Amino acid sequence: MDIPCEFCGNPVNLKARNTLQKVTGWEKKRSQGGANQIILREPLPNFAHALCVDEYKQGIHPDQALLFN
Ligand SMILES: [Zn+2]
Repeated sequence: MDIPCEFCGNPVNLKARNTLQKVTGWEKKRSQGGANQIILREPLPNFAHALCVDEYKQGIHPDQALLFN
């Protein structure tokens, strides 16, 4: 079974290093700033190409934001 990329819909290779998996968790804020700690991180059944995530971060595909509402 092919798992589609969250962003482009094309299949992702789960063993590829450029495949990213979505996770959920609880973020602990740090008073001094810096990296926040994620507690009880859990993987979600959502996958994406690293390139697609990068493009999304850069706002190249703003219409894709609808997927997350
Ligand atoms: Zn993709």
